[in-house]
Amino acid sequence: MTDEEKRLENLFWVRDRLEERFGPIEKDRTRSPLDTLIQTVLSQNTNDNNRDKAEESLWRTFDSYEEVADATEEEIAEAIKTAGLQHQKAKTIKGILTGLRETGGLELDYLDDLGAEETWKKLMEFDGVGKKTAAVVSLFALNKPIFPVDTHVRRVTSRLELIKSGENHHETLTELVPEEDMYQFHLHLIRHGRETCKSRKPQCKECVLLDRCPTGREKLADD
Ligand code: SF4
Repeated sequence: MTDEEKRLENLFWVRDRLEERFGPIEKDRTRSPLDTLIQTVLSQNTNDNNRDKAEESLWRTFDSYEEVADATEEEIAEAIKTAGLQHQKAKTIKGILTGLRETGGLELDYLDDLGAEETWKKLMEFDGVGKKTAAVVSLFALNKPIFPVDTHVRRVTSRLELIKSGENHHETLTELVPEEDMYQFHLHLIRHGRETCKSRKPQCKECVLLDRCPTGREKLADD
C-alpha cells in the first residue's frame, strides 16, 4: 500500500469511527444560502448559543433583509451584540446586503450555477468573509464540495496525521474527502475536537481514534 493509499484508508477509518460514535447527521436544508451566510458571520469567534441569540435579536429588530440593508451599522451592531465583535460583524453584514442589492437582489441563488471553487472565491469577495465562512456556505447551503476548516478540524486532523506538515488543510481535505461525506465528517470532527480531542487536554485514553492516532499513542507512551 502506498503512503497515499494508507492515508486514505486511515481517513475512512476515522470517518467510520466518528459515525459510530456520534451517529449520522441529516443535512439541514431549510436555510437559504443568504441565511446561512449571515448566520456564519454571526458565529465567528463565538459559540452556537450566542450566535442563535444574536440571530433571534436581529429578526426581532428587523423584518427583512431590506430593512437590515437600510439600517446603520450601529443599529445592526446593537441588534447582534450578543454575538460579540458586533461592530465588525455589522460592517460585514451591511456590506454583504448593500453589495447584493446593488448587483441584483438580496439572495445568493446566482451562485448555484458556478463551480465549487468559483463559488467559494465569489463568497470571499465580500469584505469580512474568509475561507472558512465561504466554505461553510458553499458546502452547507449550496452543496458545493468545499471542506470547511476551523480550529477543531485543523487540530484533530493534524494530530491524527491525516494532514502532513506543510500541507494546506483546506485544499487537502477538499481533495481527499468524498463529496457525500463532507458535511457529516466536518461536523463530527468539530464535535470530536470539542468533546475529546481538546486543545489543551486531549482525552486520549477515552478516544475512539486512539488505535490510529500517532499523537495520542505517543502521549500515552510518555505518561
Ligand atoms: S488519541 Fe488523543 S490526540 Fe488522537 S484524536 Fe484522540 S484525543 Fe486527539
